[in-house]
Amino acid sequence: MKAAKIIKRFHVGRADKFRLSDYDPGDTCGLEIQKDVARALLDNGIQRLSDLQERLYANDRWSVLLVFQAMDAAGKDSAIKHVMSGVNPQGCQVHSFKQPSAEELDHDFLWRCAVRLPERGRIGIFNRSYYEDVLVVRVHPELLARQRVPEELKGKDVWKERFRSIRSFERHLADNGVLILKFFLYVSKEEQRKRFLERLEDPAKNWKFSMSDIAERKLWDSYMDAYQDMIRATSRDEAPWHVIPADNKWFARLVIAGTIVEAMEKLDLKFPKADGADHTEMEKVRKALLAEAKER
Ligand code: ATP
Ligand code: MG
Repeated sequence: MKAAKIIKRFHVGRADKFRLSDYDPGDTCGLEIQKDVARALLDNGIQRLSDLQERLYANDRWSVLLVFQAMDAAGKDSAIKHVMSGVNPQGCQVHSFKQPSAEELDHDFLWRCAVRLPERGRIGIFNRSYYEDVLVVRVHPELLARQRVPEELKGKDVWKERFRSIRSFERHLADNGVLILKFFLYVSKEEQRKRFLERLEDPAKNWKFSMSDIAERKLWDSYMDAYQDMIRATSRDEAPWHVIPADNKWFARLVIAGTIVEAMEKLDLKFPKADGADHTEMEKVRKALLAEAKER
């Protein structure tokens, strides 16, 4: 299967009937790729991304927002690390959203993310995001209580209203030059079990294990329902979701890198050209610099 076709397969446009069961976390599109082949393909993607990021920066008009959501141990952090490894750190900002602070709870749920949006010319990565407010907060109603939204605004329509806020927010960003790409790293419950076991059994990975992850695992089905509903309600052409099969890390990374490269290439970013007057000036300076060498 060609790369473009693979990327398209996991791209969700507007999909009111989207079903998670149409996707398989173990999918590799029939690719039985050797590890070093995957590495070479990924390196190629990373190289192209690095070039595109330089153009984005020089161009200084568009920005790129990459949103990552997943269950624990789906490989969000390592996917971000690998995919962005070739990108100049100055042109890239990663932000992880944890449980909201007291100050953050004093604002609407989009606020803390809005202040972290990437500047023009930059790639911004959200490791978790405002989508937590329709995922973990939906699965744990007590978190909604902590958010101190006025009682009369917390009725049964609260999720519908949040989806609407998110759609408007993303529409607004897209209209102002933000390329938005959202990734759901879809890991299976069985693969999560294996990765948790590894974290427990390998002392070098113990630090990654948290008891609360086990509590969330017990709520797996509620999370999957929340993810499905969220994707249905918030995947749009200007801010599409991508459901990334995440049981095979090499495959997830390839699809993510490919998706970002393809979307950024569509922006057709050119290096800015100097105008005529600038050229005359530059030619003068060039000659002066050459002359300096002769004087020595
Ligand atoms: P890792 O995958 O390495 O464990 P992490 O992203 O899970 O990293 P943690 O510090 O373990 O980082 O967890 C952050 C926690 O914060 C998650 O359980 C997440 O659900 C929670 N969280 C994020 N945003 C919100 C929110 N708006 N309301 C409540 N909880 C939130
Ligand atoms: Mg965690």
